[in-house]
Amino acid sequence: MREYKIAAIPGDGIGQEVIPAGVEVLEALQRKSGGFQLHIETFPWGSEFYQQTGSYIPLGGLGALRNFQAIYFGSVGHPTVPDHISLWGLRLAICQGFDQYANVRPTRVLPGITSPLRGVEPDSFDWVIIRENSEGEYSGHGGRAHTGHPEEIATETAIFTRAGVTRIMHYAFEVAQSRPRKLLTVITKSNAQRHGLVLWDEIAAEVARDYPDVTVDKMLVDAATTRMVLKPQSLDTMVATNLHADILTDLAAALAGSMGIAPTANINPPGKFPSMFEPIHGSAFDIMGKGIANPIGSFWTAVMMLEHLGEIDGAWRLMQAIEKVTASTVRTPDLGGTSTTAEVTAAVIDAL
Ligand code: NAD
Ligand code: MN
Repeated sequence: MREYKIAAIPGDGIGQEVIPAGVEVLEALQRKSGGFQLHIETFPWGSEFYQQTGSYIPLGGLGALRNFQAIYFGSVGHPTVPDHISLWGLRLAICQGFDQYANVRPTRVLPGITSPLRGVEPDSFDWVIIRENSEGEYSGHGGRAHTGHPEEIATETAIFTRAGVTRIMHYAFEVAQSRPRKLLTVITKSNAQRHGLVLWDEIAAEVARDYPDVTVDKMLVDAATTRMVLKPQSLDTMVATNLHADILTDLAAALAGSMGIAPTANINPPGKFPSMFEPIHGSAFDIMGKGIANPIGSFWTAVMMLEHLGEIDGAWRLMQAIEKVTASTVRTPDLGGTSTTAEVTAAVIDAL
């Protein structure tokens, strides 16, 4: 029996609804599949925990997480805590603490789902966006001075290092190489951002020499948004900076039908630290507590986690079950249906 220790952190808002749903589905999957056993421990870290204790992660908390093989994360963000406090307190503390420098976001229109794009059928595009997840515009470097005075100043410095750009390029080329089309689109804004992103372009060209079978294609980020909308089939694997890919992946999720479907992985490629898997959506204040959050994103996230653990057969079975349900009429309101989180969860367990 292959055994894995998984840390579940539902966090805030609908994270507290979709992660328990995902845990239920994973438990059903292991009963059906046999062969592997997940030991899932749930941590109560989130904004309520922060309001009670003064921190998102208790002293020694990151150390405790290191003993797990993967982290299954919901969302952090609460109406009563400023977003930059909650995000840096929990999610970014884990991503940066565990050097999860590659953020991987697959996008595809699942069976039964309607893309807002005209003429786009399920499976008519299949993308993987690789987001640099450790530096760039989200390095946290900067400061404020003269607070409250007319001459107040704030700086937010983007940091691009040769080491950081080189490692994400290698990761992106490897993903592109592993896919049938072997096509990598390198997205920057190196016309206007003339230092960091020129370095990014130079390193992309250097790393490309190690992957002669991968076709490289370059785009500016603003043009990339129009290409995603107008010619989605022309793209396959993409790599972009922390900020640019953050925005592009939300666009990708919407083009694939709903924010409630898309999954993501925060990978520490050397495997020195656990990697973290999460749906791309946030706490969704407008629907939290109503029992109607779409759990498909957290299920697809579980598929990515199983793939990372090497449970390829289990991952495949779960994806089949998800697609069977998206093709049916059991769907939450964000997809135009009337089903609840619990009903979609039960349908996926049934399909398994
Ligand atoms: P959001 O993803 O929470 O919501 C955007 C819209 O998408 C909302 O209308 C919401 O109802 C809808 N939506 C999202 N997930 C859904 C689902 N599973 N089912 C149905 N509808 C869904 O983004 P936001 O409003 O920008 O952020 C709200 C809070 O979440 C903020 O505090 C933000 O900082 C936080 N956030 C956290 C993360 C994270 O922890 N990774 C990511 C994004 C936002
Ligand atoms: Mn985002």
